[in-house]
Amino acid sequence: MRKLRVGIIDLVSNGPTRTLFARVMNANLASIMPQVIAVWCEQQGHDVTLVCYTGFENLLEELPDDVDLVFIGAFTEAAQLAYALSNLFRSRGAVTALGGPHARCYPQDARQYFDYVLGFTDQATVRELLRDCSQHRPLGVHLTAAQQPSALPGVRERWKFIEPTLKKAPFFKIVPMIGSLGCPYTCSFCIDSVVPYQPLDLDVIKEDLRFLLKKLRRPHVGWHDPTFGVRFDDFMDAIEEAIPPDSIDFIAETCLSILSEPHVQRLKRNGFKAVLPGIESWYDMGNKSKSGKMVGMEKVRQVSQHVNMILRYIPYVQTNFVLGLDTDEGPEPFELTKRFVDLTPGTFPTYPLLSAFGQAAPRNLEYQRANRVLPFPLHFLNNTHAMNVRPANYSWTDFYGRVINVSKHTFSWRAIFNRYRAIKAGIPRWMNVVRAISSEGFGRIRYYTEVRRRLAADPQFRPYFEQETTELPRFYKDRARKDLGPLWEWLPEGALYHDPNAYLNSQEKPSLKPLSIAAKSPLSDVVGVSRVLPKRFRDMRVPAKRAGFHLGNSLRNMTATVVAIEQKENEKNA
Ligand code: SF4
Repeated sequence: MRKLRVGIIDLVSNGPTRTLFARVMNANLASIMPQVIAVWCEQQGHDVTLVCYTGFENLLEELPDDVDLVFIGAFTEAAQLAYALSNLFRSRGAVTALGGPHARCYPQDARQYFDYVLGFTDQATVRELLRDCSQHRPLGVHLTAAQQPSALPGVRERWKFIEPTLKKAPFFKIVPMIGSLGCPYTCSFCIDSVVPYQPLDLDVIKEDLRFLLKKLRRPHVGWHDPTFGVRFDDFMDAIEEAIPPDSIDFIAETCLSILSEPHVQRLKRNGFKAVLPGIESWYDMGNKSKSGKMVGMEKVRQVSQHVNMILRYIPYVQTNFVLGLDTDEGPEPFELTKRFVDLTPGTFPTYPLLSAFGQAAPRNLEYQRANRVLPFPLHFLNNTHAMNVRPANYSWTDFYGRVINVSKHTFSWRAIFNRYRAIKAGIPRWMNVVRAISSEGFGRIRYYTEVRRRLAADPQFRPYFEQETTELPRFYKDRARKDLGPLWEWLPEGALYHDPNAYLNSQEKPSLKPLSIAAKSPLSDVVGVSRVLPKRFRDMRVPAKRAGFHLGNSLRNMTATVVAIEQKENEKNA
């Protein structure tokens, strides 16, 4: 195999930026899988340059001029940026490959812009891609391994790529770790609901934790497990065996069903400073919130008591709710959420809007069959800037009105004050205030209010939302152009648009033609090059859920908050 110059780009930002938040936080949001790919490429003897794109870098300067192969890892909200970059690097002679959540969710679309589109990616997949490394145009090759990799390089092996990324974070640095893949729960909207749960090697985790204590004074670790603590005792035993109690600050997304009081006490002893349980709905998913068959107000009371208990031990608890689920109807779901806010003043609630990310979850087929998926540009699919599933039981105006109403209640001065008073620790209470009055609270209310206003006043809005036309309102096009900045010029013709029913169409008449590479390459033997679209697409980037659903925003916002809190508290203690 010839020695390749490989560039790997981890897209944390969906365009150039200069915001303070991005400067402080983006480098802490790096994904694990691009670093894993980098390790695997080096093990094959290639020269590797990895760049975590935080929105500030000039990628042409950071990658070698004569790069042979560019891997890009992207969430769907960074899809248009990824397409533009692929076009740019192809114009300079490189072969390009897309991995990560977007590759898994929208392979049909991505194949138009990349030579390779990666689903489930293991070391053999990467090895064979490197061996083939050739142009596949106009349609790229879709590669997917049979299952998730059984092992991933740990922090020590990835450190060479982690360290330069952390250096970009000016104040505090979060090291990405992972202890498991997939999830045993089956939330219908989630990308991980169809990926079997699989713990990773605990010995690697123990070694990594010891390694980190030698490298950083007080490390911060963000667990990228889709649901942390499924094998709770095994993981806590490993942490307790590896490092002294409360010597690393941990942040994790998990479920209320895991967060029993004894478990929460143990988390506290071991340095967990923030947890993000997903509650999602007052009428569904009772198993993960430990509320069983309870629904409505009964569930609100039970969940509220539970979260208040957690807050006695863990300084920061963010709760996630999905707005617009089909189980919701009328004012009650929103009113119940407002009651929860009143009964649980110490938590910071977040409200992602129901979104169907291509073929992330089987439920998306139902939405597509019912013609309920809108073709909003991928750039806006971040759970807040566009809801691409027409609500089952609300008109758009009614829905946005209720979203604004619950948001105003949650971020009213009264609620902000109650939240402040409910938390004893100084920094967390102020961080809640900051989050509420910034883009997450007030900013989002402004945005939703503008969408609702345009539904009434902008002649391009309502026909688009009602699916009477696919002509994109200028509002969205202008915004995407502004966000991409100079890279807008590299966005290929037509790349702002995608087929919202591609998943359904691929099931009914497989649109992925037999691939030319399959006939001539050993790839087909090893990683199952797609002759037709495989039923399930896997993820290159861990955690998968970030891609598909809420962790992207929740971890982003949460880590910003919690790490700042810990930083301050550690400074005080020092
Ligand atoms: S939302 Fe969370 S609990 Fe539900 S399937 Fe996804 S990762 Fe698992």
